[in-house]
Amino acid sequence: MIEVSKKCIGCAKCVPVCPFAAINMIDKKAVMNEACTLCGACVQVCPVQAITITREEASAKDFSGYKGVWVYVELTETGDKAQKKIKPVTFELLSAGRRLADELGEDLCAVLLTDKNHNYEKDLGAYGADKVYMVEHDELFEYNTDVFSTVIVGLVNRHKPSSMLYGATIQGRDLAPRVASTLYVGLTADCTALAIKDGLLLQSRPAFGGNIMADILAPNSRPQMSTVRPNVMKMAEPVLGRTALVVREPAKLDKSLRRVKVLERKIAHDAGAVKIENANIVVSGGRGMKTKEKFKQLEELSKLLGGVVGASRAAVDLGFKEKTHQVGQSGTTVSPKLYLSFGISGAVQHIVGMKASDVIIAVNKDPNAPIFNVAKYGIVGDAHEIVPKLIEALKKK
Ligand SMILES: Cc1cc2nc3c(=O)[nH]c(=O)nc-3n(C[C@H](O)[C@H](O)[C@H](O)COP(=O)(O)OP(=O)(O)OC[C@H]3O[C@@H](n4cnc5c(N)ncnc54)[C@H](O)[C@@H]3O)c2cc1C
Repeated sequence: MIEVSKKCIGCAKCVPVCPFAAINMIDKKAVMNEACTLCGACVQVCPVQAITITREEASAKDFSGYKGVWVYVELTETGDKAQKKIKPVTFELLSAGRRLADELGEDLCAVLLTDKNHNYEKDLGAYGADKVYMVEHDELFEYNTDVFSTVIVGLVNRHKPSSMLYGATIQGRDLAPRVASTLYVGLTADCTALAIKDGLLLQSRPAFGGNIMADILAPNSRPQMSTVRPNVMKMAEPVLGRTALVVREPAKLDKSLRRVKVLERKIAHDAGAVKIENANIVVSGGRGMKTKEKFKQLEELSKLLGGVVGASRAAVDLGFKEKTHQVGQSGTTVSPKLYLSFGISGAVQHIVGMKASDVIIAVNKDPNAPIFNVAKYGIVGDAHEIVPKLIEALKKK
């Protein structure tokens, strides 16, 4: 419920920020009409805190009106007018969402916020979306917490999905908590598995430093919301020609809603280099590589194979490789075609970041190292003997 108290001074600052044209000034007082979605944009700008939204306490109640599995469509941030692309994590989430929606007998819907649509619905449909809720507006030219969360909260209040999935990316990790806190619902971050249990979204994620898996249900609020890291869910094969229904959603967005402006973008890594999360081959090393010098052999091996170097957290802590190359729970999740591991024990926190790789080859001196439990091929041996031999063999070829 939204209320405007006697404190309202009739300044009308709330009127332009409402994305849904839901506020009229009547007798110098803000009055909300039926278009109000409780998005909260007006609350943020009111200089005298005259507007309050009261949300119902979570309780076991009838959620039969909440239907549909939603996936937030994340686009690349180009920083210029170049065409943005849909990030692969969106297709991974649609692939997972398709399974969930089928089991629930609900629609799978993609939620797309953009300044210009480039036929995005074609790919979203091919990856399983039944519907695309599309908001097209100049103010959506780049991701912005205030603008995007306001629009999404409005859409959720209007259409009432049963669940919503976001990539656990920089953008998703910023957006999902804002939406969750505005809606007063829970959010399970960094899920590694999603399923349906008794009609609820079963969200699994590592807990207590990755030593146990927690299964989380949110029976008392809707939508059930999760973030999932890139490369965790397997991307399904697109079905070319499969189409999604496009539902265009109107939004009136005012510049004043945007409280943060991006002045400049600086790319911290080599712009031309393949990022570890996108690599087809990852050559990873751990503490067993012993020294930074010996670890450098992996760079050479990786170059010969056309791959990217990865590292365990121990290797990163020892300064063998930069943090951006760390694979695992507190690093990056990878799912290359080939993952080579040298001198990595296979702690659970490392395994969660690479177990989705197509083929894993592990080299370790210890025959009982847990890494062998996930490896397709295991070599019990000394990495310092094996790596130079591999380099030599590849050079000969
Ligand atoms: C909250 C939390 C988050 C974490 N996040 C991550 C994460 O994102 N990524 C991550 O990797 N870890 C993470 N860790 C740390 C993780 O628990 C392990 O400590 C770490 O993965 C161990 O790295 P390692 O396998 O390189 O080292 P070790 O466990 O010390 O293993 C070294 C291995 O090298 C083998 N070895 C030694 N010499 C040789 C040789 N000459 N040839 C072949 N094999 C040899 C040994 O037999 C051993 O198995 C996290 C921990 C916590 C608590």
